[in-house]
Formats: sequence, C-alpha cells, structure tokens
Amino acid sequence: MKIHLASHYGMCFGVRDAIAQTQEIAEIQSATVLGELVHNPVVQKKLDAAGVAIGSLDSKPQEIKSEAVVFTAHGVADSVRNSWAETGKKVFDTTCPLVKKAHRSLECLVLAGFKPVVIGTRDHVEVRGLITDFPESIVIIDESEIANIPGDWQKIGVVSQTTQPVSHVENLVGKIGESRPEGEVKFIDTVCKPTKNRQQALNELASQCDTVVVVGGNNSNNTRQLANRASDLGAVAFQVETADDLKLAWFAESQHVGVTAGTSTLEETVQEVVAQLEEFTKEKRRLMLFDSLKAIA
Ligand code: SF4
Repeated sequence: MKIHLASHYGMCFGVRDAIAQTQEIAEIQSATVLGELVHNPVVQKKLDAAGVAIGSLDSKPQEIKSEAVVFTAHGVADSVRNSWAETGKKVFDTTCPLVKKAHRSLECLVLAGFKPVVIGTRDHVEVRGLITDFPESIVIIDESEIANIPGDWQKIGVVSQTTQPVSHVENLVGKIGESRPEGEVKFIDTVCKPTKNRQQALNELASQCDTVVVVGGNNSNNTRQLANRASDLGAVAFQVETADDLKLAWFAESQHVGVTAGTSTLEETVQEVVAQLEEFTKEKRRLMLFDSLKAIA
C-alpha cells in the first residue's frame, strides 16, 4: 500500500493567521472568541489550553466576562461588528481577507442595483455574516432552490461562500442565467484560492488513488466537501478528525491511499495520519507474509 499526499492540503493562511492573532491577543488580556474560530477539535483544544474562552455572536455583552472579544476568520456583518464596538469591549477582528472580499463583492453588486443571491449553506456562519447586512438576499445550495429566487428579479448579482466547489458554483450560476433568458446575471467569483488549490489537488490525487483519507473536523464544511468530491471521483473516501479514527480494516483492499486535509487542519495532525497509515502498510505486509508462511506450512 502506497501513501500519496495531495500537492495542496490542510491549513490555509486565513485560518493560520486567525489562530496566531487570537493567541497573541490572549497573551495580553482575557479574550472570548465569538464562535468556533475554526471547525477543528485539535485546534480548539490548543485555544482552550491558552485560556481563550468561547462565546457566540448571539451572546449578550454582559455574559462575556473577558476584556476582549474576537471575531473569527469566517467574518461578521458590518452591523454586528459595529454593535459589539459600542459595548465597551475591546474588539478584535480576525476575518480572513478573502471573506472580506466576498462581503465587498456582494456590497458592490447591491450598490450597482443587482438583487443579491449567495451560493452556500444557509446556516453556515460565513453565509450568515454575508447576508445579515443584506436581508433581501436569497441563499441557494442547489438547482432545486433556484425557484426560491423571486420571479420578478431580472438583475441578479451572485457571490458564493468561499469554500464551495468552484465547478458546482459555476454550474449553478449558468442555471440561474438559463432561468432568466431576458435578465442579467452578474457573478463575482468569491471561492478562495486555497479552496480552489485543494479541490484541484484532490482531482489529481483521486485519479491516482483507490482510497482517499480527508483529515478535518466533522463539522468543517470544506472538509466534508473534499470527502464528498473524492467519493464522486470514484475513490473510497474516509473523513477523520485525527489518526486515532483510522481503522486498519478500511484499507484491506487499498493499494494507493491519498491523504488530503481541510483548511482548518494542523500540519501535525496530517503527519500523524500519514504515520499511522505507514504503520498500517507494515502491518498489511506482516499479515501477507504470515498468510504465505501458513500456506507453505
Ligand atoms: S478557507 Fe479561504 S476564505 Fe476561508 S479562511 Fe481559508 S483562505 Fe480564508
């Protein structure tokens, strides 16, 4: 069994910077992150150890005991940012610049007279941040939801959640256009570059491998997208949070195992998964040798 690592995988700069900033903030004063900084339990444990408290964007200011509050890399609406700034708390914002780009893109479209449509998962924190300032927005995730866009909207501006599969987004934009042959559909591509790189690398990985292991949090949207995509490409796909989740039996038939990871996964977690898979390779070899000796005897 051979192990192949994707050419792009794991933690993106947006998440890495958000974690580093939060750790620096927590060294100077007590801090509460308003939400899950990243959807990854290993990172979460490290932040707990650094004394970072977890709140939520829906927390009341009087419920937050720390001096500072921190917005996550997923971003927040301007109205939410402004209302926290009025509470007297020190406010720190670790929103990824590429999420900010998605906010500004939607704003530009609305200012230019386009009705806002967002492609993404309605309840995801990034999407909630995107649409809160534009309550008219329609969020769609698949073709069946195009019917939710009001029929009299003829000038439509589309952006997407930064971690959506780019081919899925482009396909949906085409379908929205087809649903309004007389209308105008303007799309600004807000799928981020690290996501695109990881998706492209996964395509290459799945073409070489019969099995793919995706490392990342169970509630991480982009990790789930990678696992679904690997499966769509014909590989047997497993999603794990850590090396402890791996099982030797999964790889009984595997010859080429690809490894990739979501954008909030630490490098050390990926390396632990690779090391465990290498142990499995040795174990499979030992079992094969044992079977051959048994056959001879
Ligand atoms: S996945 Fe993309 S948008 Fe999200 S934090 Fe990472 S780089 Fe930024």
